[in-house]
Parts: sequence; structure tokens; C-alpha cells
Amino acid sequence: MSDRPADVRIHDFKEVDSGLSAAEAIAEAERCLQCKKPFCIKGCPVCIDIPAFIREVADGNFPAAARALKEQNMLPAICGRVCPQETQCEGVCILGNKETAIRIGAIERFVADRERENGAELPEVARPTGKRVAVVGSGPAGLTAAAELARAGHAVTIFESLHEAGGVLAYGIPAFRLPKDVVNAEIDQVLALGVRLKKNHLVGRSVSVDELLGYDAVFLGTGAGLPAFMCIPGENLNGVYSANEFLTRVNLMRADAFPESDTPVLHGARVAVIGGGNVAMDAARVARRQGAKVSLIYRRGEEEMPARRAEVLHAKEEGIEFLTCTNPIRILGEQHVTGVECVKMSLCGIDASGRRSPEPIEGSEFTLDVDMVVQAIGTSPNPLLVSLIPGLERARKGNVVVDENGRTSIPHVYAGGDIATGAATVIEAMGSAKRAAAAINAMLKGE
Ligand code: FAD
Ligand code: SF4
Repeated sequence: MSDRPADVRIHDFKEVDSGLSAAEAIAEAERCLQCKKPFCIKGCPVCIDIPAFIREVADGNFPAAARALKEQNMLPAICGRVCPQETQCEGVCILGNKETAIRIGAIERFVADRERENGAELPEVARPTGKRVAVVGSGPAGLTAAAELARAGHAVTIFESLHEAGGVLAYGIPAFRLPKDVVNAEIDQVLALGVRLKKNHLVGRSVSVDELLGYDAVFLGTGAGLPAFMCIPGENLNGVYSANEFLTRVNLMRADAFPESDTPVLHGARVAVIGGGNVAMDAARVARRQGAKVSLIYRRGEEEMPARRAEVLHAKEEGIEFLTCTNPIRILGEQHVTGVECVKMSLCGIDASGRRSPEPIEGSEFTLDVDMVVQAIGTSPNPLLVSLIPGLERARKGNVVVDENGRTSIPHVYAGGDIATGAATVIEAMGSAKRAAAAINAMLKGE
């Protein structure tokens, strides 16, 4: 896929990758060996029959390819864009040992985009069972559980606290990686299966726990949206954001269009983003598109960064300055941020995470002049609802304890996605939601 030039794309929020043409998708699909024992299916948490859909693409039969995809995955245009394919399906493609792995994600995106442009077909829905299922949260986990259960004939209602559905797909991942019309079209497909969506419904506040537990089954997909902070001096100054707040303001609340939209966001001329994961890359690239000079501060080396290589490359192309082996120790300013005091770090022995551990270098302190700071150092499970459900077992970090089928400590309550695993990925959230939906379906059928 070809990327738009960096000096052009930093002025807008349009998608960076242009996607494959039909000819390119067919040529890529023709490289597939159609392995008898395909590892790629095992590498996909929702178990798409990858050789089958790729074979249809190679034959130019795009609607059949879309059908095969949607049998297992109702969000293929989203997954084709944001899945970390290099560690999932493509990471185990046998061709990767000899040449390059089949670009499964890019082909999946092509098929899904083509179907969206030409009118999508819906998978079959079973006859109504008369059972009612509540799904809390409309992120990838909630949407996947809802789609699976609606297809099995249950009456599914999704409760979403925000005014838009999609969870991180809507408020976190910026449009230049995941356009919002793509997200909305795939959500519409889930709703077309008969799923009811109640937006602006915060379960635990505007919907009671008693009402929730009155459903025949409950799926909790409330995510891990609680931001972590460094707890260093100066964090309460104006101009300090969590990445979640900053991205939500820009992506979901359209602060980028202020004053036409009524959500303001500070436009820092010099911005420090703290962190080395995908969220940090997104925050840095959003700030860059708002005209800022952006420095990314990360306490370990570039090799240790958890962000995808492609995101690091894109951020660098877009002129983000990488200050690696650097740790912020104080945010400076009176009322508003004026700088960040940092210390340089040296990398020593391997720590419990398997990475070189950073140690401060005495006397290496320096000040970076900035007028905005965005902290992207991790998130933990949303505590509001799960802390209100009596008898729901939670682990030390606040995530709901589940078995391999998403069962919680309460018989008819299941959970999946980031609320169960802690912050992970879209496709892992979907995989766990599918397993939980299968278990809910079996329970409702009395199996
Ligand atoms: P979420 O997507 O967080 O959805 C939870 C939903 O529940 C939200 O809509 C929330 O409003 C709602 N909710 C919470 N509490 C309540 C309540 N009490 N009542 C009603 N509704 C409630 N993963 C990738 O695979 N690739 C990427 O490129 C990628 N980039 C990312 C970029 C950012 C900025 C972030 C933050 C994450 C990224 N991730 C990425 C991670 C991925 O998005 C998450 O792992 C995934 O969204 C988790 O899905 P979920 O459905 O469990 O939770
Ligand atoms: Fe690969 Fe993700 Fe598509 Fe599964 S959903 S085949 S992991 S890109």
C-alpha cells in the first residue's frame, strides 16, 4: 500500500495508507500457497478461514470473499487496518520464512472496503429465542459479542455511556489510521442484525445494576479507559492531558474543528508526549497535525518501544522528535506548562518485562521548553460499573476475573476485551468476546 507523502498528510486527518487496488489484491492473493494445515487461521484470534477468503480474491470473486470473512468477523475493514498482523496471522504465515508473508490484513481491508462501496450482504440470523442479553460497552468486544448473540437469535441490547458507539475505535484511534465512516459502516452492519443500541446510557448510573442483572445474560465489555499518570510534580498544571482525554477531545468531540464544534483543546506550539506505545504515537501524530513541534519522550531505547514498527516509522516521517532513554521528572510552570525537566537514562540488565531496565544518569538533567504535555503511559480497566456489581471477582489491577470462556464469578455474567485482559488489542478483544458469546449461547440453550 502506498502512503501519502508525510509533508502533505501532516496538514489533515485523511487516511495515510491508500489500500490495495483490485489488481494488487488479486496478485497478492495469488501468492498464497493454500497450505493444507494453515497456521494463519490459528494466528487469527477470531479464526477467519484465511485461505478460503484469499482463494476467492485470487479468483476475482470479491462478494464470496466478503461472505467468508464475515462468517467469523463482522469488523473486517477495521481489523484490516488496525490489527497488528505482523504478530498475528501474518506473523505465522509460512511464506514469511522464505520471502514476505502474505499481506492478509491489506487483502482483508480491500475486500471489506469493496463490499462497503458496493452494498454489503448480511450474514444469516437464527429464529428468535426469546432470550434477552445485555451488552455493556460498544467497543470491539461489545460489538462482537452483540453480533454473535444476535445471529444466534437472542434479543441483544448494547448500553454505551458515550454519545457515539465504537469505544476506542471512535474516541482513541485517529481518523488518519481508521476513518470514522469505516467504523460507522461496520457498526451499522452489527445493528442491522437486529441489535439495539442505547447510547448515552452509563450502566451503574443512568441504568441500575439491578436492571442489568435482570437480563437472561450479561456481557461486560467496558474496556480499559482509565489513564495512568506518572505522579510527578506539575501534573495539575493547565496544558497537561492524559492521551485518552486529548484524543477523545480531538477524535470524538471534534475539537480539531473548534469553534464550529464547541469542544476546545489547547493547541500547543511545542508538545511533549510521554510514552512509547501506539497510544503515544497516535497522540504525537495528532498534535503534529494541529501544527505543533512534537517531542516524544521515552525512558527506554527505540528497540524497547511497544509501538508497532510501522507507527514509529510514520511518526518519524512526520517529523516527530524521538527523545529516547529520557525520563520526565517534573513538569514546570506557574499556572500553565512552560517545560518538562527530564533526566537521561542508561539501559542496564534485563528486567521482569524482558527488556533492558532504565536507570537515571546522575547530573544529566535538562529542561525541554513545551507548552503542552500529553501522558500516554498506559491505562487500566474502567472501574465504575465492575466495582458496583456485588460478588464480581476482580484481580489486583482491577480487571474482571474470567475463565477461558469469559465466565465471571457470577453465573449469568460474562466479560471480554480489555476489562478482562487489561489494555490489549482490537482483535484480542474480539476473540475473547466471541468465546464468551459462544458460552452465553450454550448457557441460554441449556447446553
Ligand atoms: P473499548 O474499546 O475501550 O470499549 C469500551 C466501551 O465501553 C467504551 O465505548 C466505553 O464508553 C464503554 N463503557 C465503559 N463503561 C461503561 C458503562 N459503565 N456503561 C456503558 N458503557 C460503558 N489496538 C489494536 O489492535 N490496534 C491499534 O492500532 C490500536 N490503537 C490504539 C490506539 C489508542 C489511542 C488506544 C487507546 C488503543 C489502541 N488499541 C489498538 C487498543 C484497542 O483499541 C483496545 O484493546 C480495544 O478497543 C479494546 O476493546 P474493548 O471493547 O474491550 O474496549
Ligand atoms: Fe489477521 Fe486480524 Fe484479519 Fe485475523 S482479523 S486475519 S488477525 S488481520
